[in-house]
Amino acid sequence: MSAPRRISVLGATGSVGAATLDLIDRASPGQYEVVALTARTNARELARLAIQHKAEFVAIADPACEPELRQALLGQPIEIASGEGGVIEAAQRRADWIMAAIVGAAGLRPTLAALRQGTALAFANKECLVCAGGLFMQEAARCGTRLLPVDSEHNAVFQVFNGAHRANIDAITLTASGGPFRSWDEVRMQSAVRADALAHPTWDMGAKISIDSATMMNKGLEVIEACWLFDLPEDQVRVVVHPQSIVHGMVHYGDGSVLAQMGSPDMRTPIAHALAWPERMTAPVERLDLIQAGRLDFEPPDLERFPALRLAREAVQAGGIAPTVLNAANEIAVAAFLDDRIGFLDIAASVAEALDRAAGDEDMPSQLGAFDDVFAIDKRARELARDLMGVPAAQNG
Ligand code: NDP
Repeated sequence: MSAPRRISVLGATGSVGAATLDLIDRASPGQYEVVALTARTNARELARLAIQHKAEFVAIADPACEPELRQALLGQPIEIASGEGGVIEAAQRRADWIMAAIVGAAGLRPTLAALRQGTALAFANKECLVCAGGLFMQEAARCGTRLLPVDSEHNAVFQVFNGAHRANIDAITLTASGGPFRSWDEVRMQSAVRADALAHPTWDMGAKISIDSATMMNKGLEVIEACWLFDLPEDQVRVVVHPQSIVHGMVHYGDGSVLAQMGSPDMRTPIAHALAWPERMTAPVERLDLIQAGRLDFEPPDLERFPALRLAREAVQAGGIAPTVLNAANEIAVAAFLDDRIGFLDIAASVAEALDRAAGDEDMPSQLGAFDDVFAIDKRARELARDLMGVPAAQNG
């Protein structure tokens, strides 16, 4: 029998983290060994998962939550750390496969630490590629790390993308559900509240990505992510609205063939693909029944009602600091919306305004040549975004 695979999950208490640990939990005994788990504030759930999976090491990003974590793990042979340093230490623990599922640019340092192990990195934290794409991909190549896309659309493309035929690939298509406001007019969207925006029609996800799906910024971030993962220019990454979320991604080959990956909308499918890669495993997901589904609809995205997708495309075309600014401003705007500080349509409007201000800002670094530049641009963009939304620093992002 082969040795158990050593697995770590960064962002273990989140939606992707929970789906990953659910698959681990159902595996045969001795197949996996859980090395490190992390969270930000949810000490109780982190402790429960660590005990259930016999983790070696846990880290909680918010140091104020460390006492609760220690109390919950009293008497357990589990090492405990806190703060960003603790999360980075968790990411550095020797592992064969690491799930990067922290939300937002806050995941960049730990994800980089995981990437530098040079093993397999299951990649959910798309914001890392949006804010530091070129540097991140270079670092993955330098370290010999296998990046396994977990975002369902990118995982779909990864499954049908034949690198040997790269020159004959016309384009890829990422599908979008259209989110909860697909059929709402702008007047109605203006008055959308938190609960409306969080009510995703097909996927059950964390709060930030649910709001990004409602604005369609998520699809914009995914276009940028796909450009980096598959080394394609922005105009070869298409988006089509597909409300049933059954076709996740497609590759269009030069001979007219279009290869698509389909499945019920359940993140355990792409996670299982990344976990078993290059083999396959059985996942406890609802099997796709096309007769029961009945129909598959496709429509173009409406860039008037969903300007965030256009902003993301413009940012990746502009290059340089623009995607980093876009991501930072969006994180602040989403948090402000979730705090009832700004309206739904203000999210994209604020991101547009932050991009404009950043372009003329004397304190904004103009170069993006190293990871330190990314952190400086991200920090300054957050200041600009908070300032224009009137958000105090301590309360948001
Ligand atoms: P969740 O909000 O559900 O979970 C986020 C996780 O990250 C939690 O464990 C959270 O801890 C932790 N976390 C949050 N902030 C920090 C921080 N500053 N430092 C360290 N840890 C932190 O997010 P999702 O699981 O929905 O998404 C995770 C990533 O995966 C995102 O980048 C998202 O875009 C991507 N993704 C998600 C999909 C989904 O279906 N959910 C699909 C495709 C991609 P705590 O619980 O303590 O707050």
